[in-house]
Amino acid sequence: MLMKMTKKIIAIDADDTLFDENTAVRHFMNNHYGFKHTAKDYLVEGPFDNYWENIWHKNSAETTTMYEEFVVSSYKENLKPITGALSVLNELNKQYDLVIVTSRDQRGIKMTHSSLALHYPNIFSDVHFVPLWGDGSEATKAKICSEIGASYLIDDCFEHCLLAAEAGISAILFGDYGWNRQQNLPKGIIRCKDWEAVRRALCGK
Ligand SMILES: [Mg+2]
Repeated sequence: MLMKMTKKIIAIDADDTLFDENTAVRHFMNNHYGFKHTAKDYLVEGPFDNYWENIWHKNSAETTTMYEEFVVSSYKENLKPITGALSVLNELNKQYDLVIVTSRDQRGIKMTHSSLALHYPNIFSDVHFVPLWGDGSEATKAKICSEIGASYLIDDCFEHCLLAAEAGISAILFGDYGWNRQQNLPKGIIRCKDWEAVRRALCGK
């Protein structure tokens, strides 16, 4: 019997890796809360968790409420693709099996599928929603990546990359963001500041 050629699997995050959530959050908050923040304001260094607290100068509960307003708004539904992603994904798709691994919750399922169909048609073979937000759930992106046999994870969140690397999955910390720029990277994680850098890392050119 002939062996079926299997491609290595790359798991890819959605927000701020494929879709520009950071810019959309800024526009939403400027329009709804009267801020006058610039792109530069949204790149200041700070922790990933509740990152916007540092920008909006609101407390944790207020920050969460404001972000939740954004999540159910048309801004979240209409995120723009990250520059350069599509052409690199088309190239990667020849050599790899590309899947989405996102921690968007139930409210994001339908919009995720429609955004992918609109901006990244025929690229991804599967979409996994990781219930990080579940009560007491032990789910992690690293566990899902292990279960589906992913060789790589591309994600802008250092914590997800770290857990993946610890599970033996090669992690690519994506983007040059205020919440990931300051990290020192352990073995198993490389940084790619944009999709061209991902192309060089995974296609070797
Ligand atoms: Mg992300």
